[in-house]
Amino acid sequence: MSRVPPSGPPGPCLATPEGSGGGTPRQAPPGLHVVAVPIGNLADITQRALDVLAGVDAVACEDTRVTGKLLAAHAVRARLISHHEHNAAQRRPELLDRLAAGAAIALVADAGTPLISDPGYKLVRAAQDAGLPVHAVPGPTAAVAALSVAGLPTGRFLFQGFPPAKQGARREVLAELASVPATLVFYESPHRLTASLADMAAVLGAEREAAVVRELTKRFEETRRDTLSNLETRQAADPARGEVVVVVAPPEPAGPADAETVDARLRQALRTQRVRDAARTVAAATGWSRKAVYTRALALKDGGA
Ligand code: SAM
Repeated sequence: MSRVPPSGPPGPCLATPEGSGGGTPRQAPPGLHVVAVPIGNLADITQRALDVLAGVDAVACEDTRVTGKLLAAHAVRARLISHHEHNAAQRRPELLDRLAAGAAIALVADAGTPLISDPGYKLVRAAQDAGLPVHAVPGPTAAVAALSVAGLPTGRFLFQGFPPAKQGARREVLAELASVPATLVFYESPHRLTASLADMAAVLGAEREAAVVRELTKRFEETRRDTLSNLETRQAADPARGEVVVVVAPPEPAGPADAETVDARLRQALRTQRVRDAARTVAAATGWSRKAVYTRALALKDGGA
C-alpha cells in the first residue's frame, strides 16, 4: 500500500483575486492543487478556487483558450501550461520537478472536476508517491449535477463515464452493469446518444426508468425522464443536443421475474442480439439462470417470435 503524505488544507482563503476586490494575490501553498471549474455557467466557481488559481505559480490545463476565458471572466491572471490527454506523459516529469522544487501548481480540466473522465490521475498519484502535497479544491462535476436533477434514486450510484464507442464493447459493459443494484451514470457524446440509448434499452431493459440530462447550468438545460425505450424513440425524433449525461434507475428489486416478463425481454433483446448474448443480458436483468433463459430464447427463436 502506498503511503499518501498528509497534504494539509491550504486554509479557508488564500488570496484576494484581482477580480474580487483587487490587491496582490497571496501565494498558494506548495503542492498540486486539483481545482474544479464550472461545467458551463462561468459563475459556478468557488471563491477558494479563484484564490488558488490566482495564487499558484502555474495552472496546468487541457486547453489554454478555455481556461484563459474562465480566468479572464474572473480577472485572474495566471501562467498556463498545457496538460491534456495527448501530452500528459511528457509534461508529467516537468510538473513533478517543479513541484519538488516547492512550486504551487493548479491542475484544471476544461470543465468540472479534473480526473473525472479527464486527465490527471497519474499526475496526482506520482506527486503523492514522491511525497509531494496534493490539495483538493472541490466544485462542480456533471455526474453529480445530473444526479441532483434526474429525479431518480441517489442513495447508491455507479459512475461509468463514457461507455465504449463500438456497439459490441458497449453492450458487454452494459451487460456487466445490468444487475448492479445502483443508479448508473453515463457520459455520452450527443452523436452517439441514440445508439447508446437503444443499447441501454436492449440490455438494461426497455422499461427501465432513466433521465437524459443535457446542457447543465447552460441556457438550454433540460431533463427528460422516461423509460429507456421512450427516451430512445424521442431522441431519434427530437435529438437532445449539446453535452449530455444519462442517468439510469436501479433494476427492479423484485425476486426472479415471471416467465412472461422474461419472454418479453427476450423478444426485445432478440431483435438486435444473438441468442447467446440475449440470454446473458436477460438472465442478468431478471435473476433467471442463463441456461433457463437460453432454452426459452431458443424456443422463441424457433417459434419465430
Ligand atoms: N470533468 C468533467 C466533469 O467533472 O464532469 C467531465 C469531462 S468529460 C470529458 C465531458 C462530458 O461530461 C460531456 O461529454 C458530458 O457527458 C459531461 N458534461 C460536461 N459538462 C456538461 C454539462 N454542462 N451538461 C451535461 N453534461 C456535461
